[in-house]
Amino acid sequence: MKVSQILHSGVPTLSFEVFPPKTSDSIDKVRSATEEIAELHPSFMSVTYGAGGGTGHYTLEIAENLIRKKNVPLLAHLTCVDSTREGILSRLGEFRAAGVENIMALRGDIPKEPRLPRENWAYAHANELMREVRDYGGFCIGGACYPETHPESLSRRDDIAYLKEKVDCGCEFLTTQMFFDNNILFNFMYHLREAGVNVPVLAGIMPVTNAVQIRRIMQISGTQLPQRFKALLDRFGSDPEAMMQAGIAYATDQIIDLYANGVEHVHVYTMNKPVVARKLTENLSAILGK
Ligand code: FAD
Repeated sequence: MKVSQILHSGVPTLSFEVFPPKTSDSIDKVRSATEEIAELHPSFMSVTYGAGGGTGHYTLEIAENLIRKKNVPLLAHLTCVDSTREGILSRLGEFRAAGVENIMALRGDIPKEPRLPRENWAYAHANELMREVRDYGGFCIGGACYPETHPESLSRRDDIAYLKEKVDCGCEFLTTQMFFDNNILFNFMYHLREAGVNVPVLAGIMPVTNAVQIRRIMQISGTQLPQRFKALLDRFGSDPEAMMQAGIAYATDQIIDLYANGVEHVHVYTMNKPVVARKLTENLSAILGK
């Protein structure tokens, strides 16, 4: 099923993101965790992709397994940095053959040690990949957006202008980078709509269950942590069970506030943890009518 169809069906959605393994050692573990998450019947699931494509076959494998065994609507991520056109077209063919109907078209972070000489890169930005996927035909296309502005952007205005370009190149919905203060999202939505970007926006929520991991992610993404959230990290960060409980409660609270204020679509970064996905699904069951 196409994600655009799900997003336009008039009901709030809750979808889950998982990531593939980096090596074959953990493929069985990831396969079974992602199957467990699919059994919770999210609106759809997304599978991330390693920039440069070196581990892209694992994305394909996890996506294909979820479609075949669990029949869950599937969004496969695809990055175009450090890639040739032939490589991208070949991957699109593989996704098509596996039954993938939706592509999250991304640039990916610029690698420190690229596989290919730069002059061989076929795409500079995500919008060029979106155009390619649109011309290929038959896929629903999603893209990334950044409520706190992409770290490479000189200004929010530029960042949003490029989002408009993405939509013009075939992007049918946008998923946000994680954020921990809903006011940041409400403010961003206002600027998006003002700039004429009118596609559905999925709010990306990360239930934080590991303090070390979130500090590392913060350094990379530049995401702001509100004081209330920092207090949780400081107080419970060294106790994994307490941190898990506090992180799920914080994410639940954030999601309920989003739905209550008219945000219709929430995409959860599950970090491949079925327990997190299950607890959130339970906490939101009446709100989502499940
Ligand atoms: P772009 O849209 O190309 O934007 C990158 C920068 O260039 C921005 O500063 C933008 O303002 C600017 N820009 C955009 N278009 C143009 C243009 N035409 N001309 C000049 N400047 C332009 N990474 C992965 O490796 N794998 C994943 O699976 C993955 N999934 C993600 C999912 C979500 C929801 C999000 C938010 C991010 C994800 N990322 C993933 C990270 C993403 O790849 C990085 O943030 C990357 O640096 C930018 O990707 P993009 O698609 O947003 O790039």
